[in-house]
Order: sequence, then C-alpha cells, then structure tokens
Amino acid sequence: MALDPRDACPVPLESPACLLCGGEDFSVALEGLRDFAWQKPGVFRLDRCRACGLVMTRPRPTVEGLGFYYEGAYSAGADSTQAVDMAGFYRSGAGRLLNRYRLITIEKVRKLGPDDRLLDVGCSQGFFLDTAHEHTGCAVAGVDLDAGSVALARARGGAPAEYSVGRLIDDPVPAGSASVITFFECLEHDPDPVATLVAARRALRPGGLVVVEVPNWRSLWRVVLGRRWMPLLAPQHLVHFSPDTLRATLERAGFEFVHHQTMLFPIELVTSLGLWGEDLLGVRGPGPHPLGKRALHGLMRLILLVVFWTVELPVAFWSRVFHVAGHQTAIGRAPSGPA
Ligand SMILES: [Zn+2]
Repeated sequence: MALDPRDACPVPLESPACLLCGGEDFSVALEGLRDFAWQKPGVFRLDRCRACGLVMTRPRPTVEGLGFYYEGAYSAGADSTQAVDMAGFYRSGAGRLLNRYRLITIEKVRKLGPDDRLLDVGCSQGFFLDTAHEHTGCAVAGVDLDAGSVALARARGGAPAEYSVGRLIDDPVPAGSASVITFFECLEHDPDPVATLVAARRALRPGGLVVVEVPNWRSLWRVVLGRRWMPLLAPQHLVHFSPDTLRATLERAGFEFVHHQTMLFPIELVTSLGLWGEDLLGVRGPGPHPLGKRALHGLMRLILLVVFWTVELPVAFWSRVFHVAGHQTAIGRAPSGPA
C-alpha cells in the first residue's frame, strides 16, 4: 500500500516519562490521530500511564518541533486561511457568553473585587480580562507565548491590563502578585503542566486561586467519536486530562483542590463531524474546489446546523448534568502560609 504523504512527521519526536507521576509504563489509549484541524503531516498516538492514568500524546514533537504545528494555527497575525479566528469568536455574543460563564464559575468559589489581581495565562488578545475587569473591577494582567496576539491585545484598547510575552515558568510576573490565575484551554498544550502550576503557585498571593479549564478525556463525545473528537487536537494538545488526573496534577503542584465541574461547550459534535466531513470531501486544503464538492460541503453545513439544534444542544445540557460534558473546570487554592 502506498505511504500517505501525511504520515511522515517532519520534526523530531520525544517520548517523555509520565508528566504527572514519572512512570514509564504505558498502554495505548488511542491510535491513528492526525492534525485534522490544520492538515499538518504526522500520525500520532495517545498513551495512558499505567500507574496514575494520565493520558499523553506520546511520542510527541519536541518543544522546538511544536513550532511547526503552531505555525498559522492560532497566531493572531498569521498569514493563513486555516488560522482559528479566536478574536472574531470572542467578540461575538457566544464568545462574550463563554467568558461570562467562566467568571461565574470562578465566583462560585470566591467573589472578586477591586482588591483582586487576575492573571490570565494564554490570554491571547485579552478578551476574558475585559469581562473580569468590567464585572468585578479587579486589576488584570495577561501572559501569552504569541507576541502577535499580545501586540493586538495592547493595541485594541480593552481593559487596562499589563501584558507580558512568554511562559509562566520563566516568571514574567512578580512572585505573590496575583490573587487569581486562569488557564483557559491552555494547560493541555503545556509540555510540563506540573512545573507550570508550581510557577503559578509562586506568582499567587497566599490563599490565591488557580483556575484550569481543559477538555475532558472522560466525556461522552470522546467515547462516541474516538480519534475524531475535535478537542483531542493532536499534536498541539500534549496532555488529555480526566477529572481525576486534573485533580492529581493540581495537588502535585501543591494546590488544595476546591472545585470541579464539567461545562457547557456545545460545539464539539458539529465541529468534530464538520472536520471529519471536510476531510472526507477533501475541501480543507487550499481551493478553489470543484462545484460538486462545494455543493456537498454546503449541504453538510446545513445538516450540521440541524444536528446542532436537535442533538448537540440537548445532549450538552444532559451531559453537563451527568458530569460527562466535553470540557471541565477545576479550581485549586494555594497554601495560605509560606510553601
Ligand atoms: Zn503517571
């Protein structure tokens, strides 16, 4: 059988020990994953640590190699039609609702006010900081690896936030300066989540909160859709947390686990099916595509719209009730005295 040119991974790979417990004994959790979203080459596998249950993309691109998989994927200034337009989403009603929902989730644990200082890690263009500042009056700061996103955040005139470019483990903010640190859809991209959460603990005031939102490995749609479940996003996503392994990760970094919930995120089914369909039709690459394929693509989008209202939305509410929704939020509290 001819080798699919998309099979070869063009960057160096590594197979680290378990990022949670250091174990080296793994079983295969899922095979045959491709970069369905951005169509970059390579076939990936997810391994589960036999000791603690953490699921990791393994082998995975090295930190240097990951740059290839991020190029044009998320970057705000990317010259790519495949880049995800996160700014457009967060300006929309749905995006504003999501950020309000995130703030309400944090305030289940503690109300925020002007004495608080919230740091959003992976802040992109800072839209959550606008929501937090507007509704609570708290001071806000953001850090992101992507200099283009931070430049746009500074330029667009949102909440008066202090922004830094870099990683939290390089201590871009003073120790003990934040009362809340948020990681929204960010920690699953991190090559060493425990080390990053330890850095978050350093940056927090005593008793401060860390808030982590990630996809939920133990979710209904992941079981149903398997490797076609969109939030797997291998190889950009390096760690695939269940509620148990997320809790263990927070505790290993020295946090007291104070809150967990699965969350409404009702786009997983239609985006997963949409990516699958576009892959089958061959319309994810650069166009123009033949008229017949474009017509089928249009029909597929119409069907997915119906699926969204009749299947996805009702199932999202019920899966939230039974704690098997596709995303989850965990909140940890830093020790109140010196570590
Ligand atoms: Zn482990």
